[in-house]
Amino acid sequence: MTGIVYKSTGSWYLVKSNDGTFVECRIKGKFRIEGIKSTNPIAVGDVVDFEMETKNDTETGVIHGIHERKNYIIRKSVNLSKQTHIIAANVDLVFLLITIDNPPTFTSFIDRFLVTAEAYSVSVVLVFNKIDSYALEQRAEVMYLKDIYEKIGYQCVEVSATEGKNVSVIKELMLGKTSMFIGHSGVGKSTLVNAIEPNLDLKTKEISNQHKQGQHTTTFAEMFDLSFDASIIDTPGIKGFGVVDMEKEEVDDYFPEFLAVKNNCKFNNCLHVEEPKCAVKEAVENEEISYSRYRSYLQIIAGEDEHYRTESWEN
Ligand code: GDP
Ligand code: ZN
Repeated sequence: MTGIVYKSTGSWYLVKSNDGTFVECRIKGKFRIEGIKSTNPIAVGDVVDFEMETKNDTETGVIHGIHERKNYIIRKSVNLSKQTHIIAANVDLVFLLITIDNPPTFTSFIDRFLVTAEAYSVSVVLVFNKIDSYALEQRAEVMYLKDIYEKIGYQCVEVSATEGKNVSVIKELMLGKTSMFIGHSGVGKSTLVNAIEPNLDLKTKEISNQHKQGQHTTTFAEMFDLSFDASIIDTPGIKGFGVVDMEKEEVDDYFPEFLAVKNNCKFNNCLHVEEPKCAVKEAVENEEISYSRYRSYLQIIAGEDEHYRTESWEN
């Protein structure tokens, strides 16, 4: 049988079978997924093959196969072990919530998030929330940011979760997809999800008592089906993605507007910093590439926000 993992506690997995029923599953033997060393072999969103097994009169599933992932999102632990945890797999769309104030969202955060999403092949829509509360100056800031990101191909939506403005646009984008809502604490993620699905109970699905031993206290990601054709993955406490290990030289691959011009740099290993005849720097000077994006690029390749990212990407 085949199904999708809706919840994982580390040792037990709640799988929604193709026939729509939920089955508690465990893993048989060791599971090694090529290419990633993670603390969890299987994550929410994974498509798995399993078979039923009856033991002491209870039926459970045994997972014996995992389908190839379209993408996956990781978190790196901040402690010394630097272990990787896969938060979710097969995410169709991420809504990055941005507020100008209360709390402020900085472009360095947005750009690092976008770079990581590009590296993971995850589509992102930028959601400017709380537009009902903005004065002229903050509205101008929204316009400025929208202009930067729309120009380079990211869809932007202005939303008021409390007043319901453009919530229907978000719902439409979610149709037929599995989405995640990401952003700093306080940007309005729960309020928006509540506006999308007023009766959604994000209370976690129970895994029966008999399997609870050894369950971690950590909050895990969990998938929820909505009343319209859409699912969300709720990720309590996660504000951003962990950073993939990236060489300096590949960072420009994840800035779409750099890709368009970097072939014209004199040196084909150009890092767009000090090199002469750099097409990216020229484009920044001509204002074809936004200075704010270039500044974020420089910070990323310099590793300057190392502290910032470990401090603020996890609760
Ligand atoms: P989360 O931490 O991202 O889940 O944020 P919450 O959904 O808990 O929202 C944090 C605060 O912002 C709450 O007081 C909400 O009422 C408020 N808030 C959320 N969306 C909006 C909005 O569109 N406009 C205004 N004015 N306030 C909002
Ligand atoms: Zn260059």
